[in-house]
Amino acid sequence: MPSLPGNPLASVRAAIQRRRERGDAVECPICGGRFRRFLPYNGRAGAVCPGCGSAERHRLLWLWLREEDRLHGDVLAFGPDDATDARLRRLPGVRYTSSDIDGSQAMVAADISALPFADDRFDVVLCSHVLEHVEDEQGALAEIRRVLRPGGWAALMVPVDRDVERTIEDPTATTPEQRLARFGQVDHVRLYGRDVAQRLQADEVVDPLTRFGAEREARHGLRRQDRFGPDEIYLLRA
Ligand SMILES: [Zn+2]
Repeated sequence: MPSLPGNPLASVRAAIQRRRERGDAVECPICGGRFRRFLPYNGRAGAVCPGCGSAERHRLLWLWLREEDRLHGDVLAFGPDDATDARLRRLPGVRYTSSDIDGSQAMVAADISALPFADDRFDVVLCSHVLEHVEDEQGALAEIRRVLRPGGWAALMVPVDRDVERTIEDPTATTPEQRLARFGQVDHVRLYGRDVAQRLQADEVVDPLTRFGAEREARHGLRRQDRFGPDEIYLLRA
C-alpha cells in the first residue's frame, strides 16, 4: 500500500487553531509565531506553541542555542522534537545528524549507550528528554563525551521532579505499571531529583529565569508550570 500523504484534516485543524490563537502576547523562538497564548497541555498552562507544537523545554533550548550562537560544525541531536529537527536541517554552517533508538524518525538508529560514531566525531551533542529512558545512564554520558571533539560540548535536558531530593532508581521496577508508579511514566527508568546536575556531571546549569529574565521567560513560554518546572539545560564540556 502506498504511503499516505500528511493528514489533510489535521493540517486544517492546526491552521484553524493557529488562526484562533493569533495575537502578540507570546512569541515562539522556534517558529517565530506570535499568539495570544501558548496552549495548555496535560493540565499545565502555557505549554504548547499553536504554530509548531513546541513545548517549554524546546523553546528554552532553541532560544539559548541561537542567542549564544552555539550551533556550528557537526551537530548530533538525539531524539529531537519535530520543530527543532526541522530548524536544524536547514541551518547554514551545520552538518546535522539526528539519531534515535527508533530509527523511523531519525537519520541514524542508535542506542545512546553504544553509539555507532567514531571518537571526536561531533562539535555539539543535543540530548533532551532521553536519559530518563536509558538504563545505562553513566554509559550514555561516557558515549556522549567519547563522540565529542576537544572543545565540543553537549546540552542535556531531563525531567526533574523538584519535590525529590535524590534521584530515584529501582531495578525491581521493570513492568510499565511499576515504572509508572515509581517514576511517573511507563517508559522511564528513573526519576531525577534535585541532585540532577551532579549526576549528569554538568559543568554549567542554564535556567530560564536567570538567563533570560522574567519578561522574556514569560513572552517565550520558557518555564514549565508544574512540579517538573523549570526545565534547565545541563551543559557538558568535552
Ligand atoms: Zn512555535
